[in-house]
Amino acid sequence: MDHEPPKPPVEPTNCVGIDVGILKYAHDTDGTAIGSLDLSVERARLEREQRALSRKEYGSANWEKQRTVVAHRHADIKRKRRDFLHKLSTYYATEYDLVAVEDLDATGLIELDGNSRNRAGAAWGTFKRLLEYKCEREGTHFVAVEPAGTTNECAACGVSTDKPLWVREHSCPSCGFTADRDANAAWNILARGLEQIGVGHSESMPVETALPVDTPVSAKRVIETGSPALNEPSVDGSLRAG
Ligand SMILES: [Zn+2]
Repeated sequence: MDHEPPKPPVEPTNCVGIDVGILKYAHDTDGTAIGSLDLSVERARLEREQRALSRKEYGSANWEKQRTVVAHRHADIKRKRRDFLHKLSTYYATEYDLVAVEDLDATGLIELDGNSRNRAGAAWGTFKRLLEYKCEREGTHFVAVEPAGTTNECAACGVSTDKPLWVREHSCPSCGFTADRDANAAWNILARGLEQIGVGHSESMPVETALPVDTPVSAKRVIETGSPALNEPSVDGSLRAG
């Protein structure tokens, strides 16, 4: 990081750690889980129009017309994806005083291969840039933390356990703490974020009692309402640091 270290918030009571994932788009420390954006309908539509285009006589009036249709379908997908990332980043930047995420890039997504890594990496990069920019605009602290081990470490005791992608639950063999895999990661991300800006957390992090019931939110709802937790009661389990 080139820029100056962020100053700790005066009263960082409203902090969130976000784990950006693969099966779910994001999972945060307030228990909000955002589903991945489902663009299968849009993709199928695009492919249909592309097939139709390939059947037209190249350069004909009908071909030109169909080419415009294909371009519109492409634009649809792009717009939906951007819309989703814009709304999600706006939500976090405006709802919280401090937002902690992993400092990931495409090469960090080691659990994925090939195309899915490229796609996830690109979406992740866009999300992080948007989030950082909006946090700055809103006066929200943005902290990007070291990503290594956030999934494997236990948020309650710190002991590390191997955890392949298909193991969706964190169950600590050392202290017995259990949580959703991504919720556990989100807590580690927040803890690292607070540590990074110099806010103590170990005593004030009642992880075992504070983990809220997870709230799944569909990506579609994020797009439609602009807020993943619009109609949810606020969960009284947020971190009280300092
Ligand atoms: Zn543990």
